[in-house]
Amino acid sequence: MDTITHHSKTRIFEDLKSQLYGQLVLPKDKQFDEARQVYNGMIDRRPAGIVYCKNVADVIASVNFARDQDLALAIRSGGHNAAGFGVWDESLVIDLSQMKGIRVDNKQNTIRVEGGCLLKDVEHVTQAFGKAVPTGIFSTTGIAGLTLGGGIGHLSRAYGLSVDNLLEVDIVLADGNLVTCNEKNFTDLFWAIRGGGGNFGVITSFLFKLNDAGLVQGGPMFWHLEDSEEIMTYYRDFILLVPNHIYCYFAFLTVPPVDLFPENLHLKKMCGLLWCNLGDLEENDRYVQQFRDLKTPALDYVGPMPYRQLQSLFDPLYPAGMQWYWKGAFIKELSDEAIQENIKHAELMPTANSTTHFYPVNGACHKKSNKDTAWAYRDANWSQVIVGVSPDPENKEIITEWAKNYWHGIRPYSMEGGYVNFMMDEGLEKVKATYGENYDKLAKVKMKYDPDNFFRINQNIKPA
Ligand SMILES: Cc1cc2nc3c(=O)[nH]c(=O)nc-3n(C[C@H](O)[C@H](O)[C@H](O)COP(=O)(O)OP(=O)(O)OC[C@H]3O[C@@H](n4cnc5c(N)ncnc54)[C@H](O)[C@@H]3O)c2cc1C
Repeated sequence: MDTITHHSKTRIFEDLKSQLYGQLVLPKDKQFDEARQVYNGMIDRRPAGIVYCKNVADVIASVNFARDQDLALAIRSGGHNAAGFGVWDESLVIDLSQMKGIRVDNKQNTIRVEGGCLLKDVEHVTQAFGKAVPTGIFSTTGIAGLTLGGGIGHLSRAYGLSVDNLLEVDIVLADGNLVTCNEKNFTDLFWAIRGGGGNFGVITSFLFKLNDAGLVQGGPMFWHLEDSEEIMTYYRDFILLVPNHIYCYFAFLTVPPVDLFPENLHLKKMCGLLWCNLGDLEENDRYVQQFRDLKTPALDYVGPMPYRQLQSLFDPLYPAGMQWYWKGAFIKELSDEAIQENIKHAELMPTANSTTHFYPVNGACHKKSNKDTAWAYRDANWSQVIVGVSPDPENKEIITEWAKNYWHGIRPYSMEGGYVNFMMDEGLEKVKATYGENYDKLAKVKMKYDPDNFFRINQNIKPA
């Protein structure tokens, strides 16, 4: 860059700085290298600037600035996004991590959370009242990105997706206007953001319904890999028949070599169930017992615990900065052939952190139809995630290859598209397949609110 351009760029950023309460970090600043990092260590991008917004006014100023300067805009809340859309080369990053306001309304049984809250921030407050918003299974994930993609987790069978519990959002649109959308106002926008990701604006606050979730019966159960066929076959029928307050997801994993697990199982490839049952412990134990009777688990840590504890159980095993390659699939039926294919790839898991989970999305998720929200998989029974993960950048190729091969192997047994929150940057055709029959309506809503595709650093819906 020549000196004149450099100086004029710096001056322009000074204009933005003067409008902000929050900090603006530029490439010349010593915090820049830390500030441009996101959770996935595979992502290495250099934005033009990063704004740590303190309030809605900072968000509006940043949106107006990026639009007027023709800068791409990346939105970052928890920074967990698989494809790393929270940071982009030459973009302005709106970072919401300092906007963590939360207000519970006990009378209405609702909670309003600002866009920068992590799941643990929300759970810290909701659990004080024995309540929860259904979200994901790691407490370090951002509520914003997770919810906007749908939001799948331990409470999905009981209470539905995160978006099914969303009552209202405040959103800053491409023209810099702040609007509130819900079932009565801006209904098309409210429909679109429930699954349509960050395509429509910057959401500064979310209003959720609260649900009961105090003490749960939760924790993992592991079996040796050679028992996988038996456990998985029993599980596929079990989870389609049990009441909605019973939840367990199936996983292939390698036992981490940490004190939490017995030494004789360390680094063994295994299969497992991770439980989260609401309600009466004794009654729930009858369901859990079915698996103990089927085959004695090699590890059985299932027991009563606060929901909040279950939510953060595995956080330490996946610190920020590891290499992650993601693939996602929706599954309607787990045939015998599909089970065999899954076992084949599980045996090849390339690193101790690589894993695959089958999250049930039946139960309460099926109460809505594909047309009710932008999230288009109400007929799926599982959302499967395949993640090649390693702390070592040297392993980037092998974890990527394993995840891709696995996904191709199960392709004949899965539905079209995938969950936007479990995807890398896989292009327009994948996005279209993912939204299926909802894509055209999403493109129209996009045209109405963001005709220039200003919000394009995401699983992008093109205005039409
Ligand atoms: C360890 C781990 C565990 C996970 N577990 C689950 C799980 O159990 N269930 C599940 O459903 N998903 C899960 N995910 C996936 C997760 O939902 C996505 O990665 C999601 O994008 C993370 O949101 P974030 O706010 O942390 O990410 P960010 O990278 O900050 O944001 C992701 C994208 O969302 C959009 N966005 C974020 N904030 C806003 C906003 N305020 N306004 C408008 N758009 C916004 C932007 O397009 C942004 O690029 C997990 C991810 C990880 C890394």
